[in-house]
Amino acid sequence: MRMSQLFVPTLREVPAEAETKSHQLMLRAGLIRKAMSGVYSYLPLGWRVIHKIEQIIREEMDRAGGQELLLPIAQPAEIWRESGRWEVYGDEMFRLKDRHGRELCLGPTHEEMVTVLVRDEVRSYRQLPLLLYQIQNKYRDELRPRFGLMRGREFIMKDLYSFDRDEAGLRESYARMLEAYRRVFRRCGLEARAVEADPGAIGGTGSHEFMVLAETGEAAVVSCAACGYAANVEKAECPPPKAHPDQETAKLPTPGEAATAAAGPVPVATPEKRTIDEVAAFLEVSPSSLIKTLFYEVEGELVALLLRGDHQVNEFKLERLVTPSRWRLAEPAEVARRLGLPVGFVGPVGLSERGVQLWADHAVMAMAHGITGANRADTHLLGVRPGVDFAPHRVLDLREAEEGDPCPRCGAPLLGSRGIEVGHLFMLGTKYSKPLGATYLDEAGVEHPLVMGSYGIGVGRTAAAAIEQHHDADGIVWPVPICPAEVTVVPVNAAEGAQREAAERVYAELGEAGIEAVLDDRDERPGVKFKDADLIGFPWRITVGPKGLAEAAVELRHRATGRTELVGLGSVAARIREAVVPAREGL
Ligand SMILES: [Zn+2]
Repeated sequence: MRMSQLFVPTLREVPAEAETKSHQLMLRAGLIRKAMSGVYSYLPLGWRVIHKIEQIIREEMDRAGGQELLLPIAQPAEIWRESGRWEVYGDEMFRLKDRHGRELCLGPTHEEMVTVLVRDEVRSYRQLPLLLYQIQNKYRDELRPRFGLMRGREFIMKDLYSFDRDEAGLRESYARMLEAYRRVFRRCGLEARAVEADPGAIGGTGSHEFMVLAETGEAAVVSCAACGYAANVEKAECPPPKAHPDQETAKLPTPGEAATAAAGPVPVATPEKRTIDEVAAFLEVSPSSLIKTLFYEVEGELVALLLRGDHQVNEFKLERLVTPSRWRLAEPAEVARRLGLPVGFVGPVGLSERGVQLWADHAVMAMAHGITGANRADTHLLGVRPGVDFAPHRVLDLREAEEGDPCPRCGAPLLGSRGIEVGHLFMLGTKYSKPLGATYLDEAGVEHPLVMGSYGIGVGRTAAAAIEQHHDADGIVWPVPICPAEVTVVPVNAAEGAQREAAERVYAELGEAGIEAVLDDRDERPGVKFKDADLIGFPWRITVGPKGLAEAAVELRHRATGRTELVGLGSVAARIREAVVPAREGL
């Protein structure tokens, strides 16, 4: 590849539309271009990265017993109606009609399509287990497509579906996929981790996500160094605290109004102090001494969720407790109007009498007493005793896990980190095979539903996550296994005869040695060429300049460490092979 002919439109400026590093760098390095919101063209060097990731995935899926096929993007509405997801998918599904008025969709995922195929073709237990996968475009009409390839409306995904005769078979296929995923991300040169996850809209009984660890990741993960437990905070359990923690008592703004914990609620004036932070600062206590009241409308009823002031509600846990899509956060102003109470001063004492359901988080019930709104303007209550001064209808795990919480498995303090979800595994069981009628006959001729799993990897997302994990101020620092090309050869002055000849010779030798090289033969200043080389992130750069040539040598520079060495002209290809070939294997 010659830079003079390569279609790689690099940019000096950071594009205004790109918020994240990976999005900025993919645009700047000329790897992708936006076609419309959430839809991208992959330019030649970007496409090479995608190809390499796909190839690693393909090899590992095949090794795990998968068979590659290709399912259609256009799918008939009927199969989605049969599974019950035509309605559930809502606005995220791209829907269209053909000329006969028949409804179709662009596949957001392929559980229905593959289940119908297997239903029509698989009869016997002898044909199981069956692992089928494809790598192709998916379509989801995201409300807010953003971050480039990270959250697109059209994106490339590998999806594998496993079909087994029973739960034990599914667990075996699932374990095999977990291991295959570990190998995929290791071979891509990425630090990734499997974490317990929420199955969400895909459904099923068990689920893991693969996270590429990066400070810029949008997902929060908690993990335990002691026992290896790791989970997305959306999923992470918060077991009930064992004992009442020591509690501070609020210093009252007016001396003499002292409230004791045992005496029950005492009103205190909190003029204009509405938020947890405002009240805590005013009363000189930490937010953990407060109990916050959040209102949700669940199936038309008003429900007050009670959480410790410093805890965050986890709506994924709420979603699992109630009928999906039959709940929403209630507007504070609307609640105030409905209940006739002042916004910002609402609390649980006396709320049930107003027809509100009280759902308390475990951590609230472990408090000896707390500070709540008094249901009166500019007033809070001190010394409110959960279970005494108000009785919750339900006590639940409602909050988001955070760093320092006890591990739900062993009790050791959890560590917090951030990651980018690049893969997701689901134990589906019979969620799709039953409604779609996909069955097999066992040895005795008895019919059973197939037991399924589904396993996705976002291919473009993996490329973006790799950049989030591997970049510096100058550009991308590609892991060798997924780089667009391994080496760039840069003559300082391409117009100068000796330099041009030497660069051409090195470039040819690298090609013969099976090294992917790009020759920067452009008539540009060396600074421009070096900047582009760093921006695009070739793992090695060979500089051919007058100083080196005087000693019949070139300079080899390692992008990740910045280390340089002089290499004799005769041994360049051998030296590069020595560096590149082992690095192709990943971490
Ligand atoms: Zn643990």
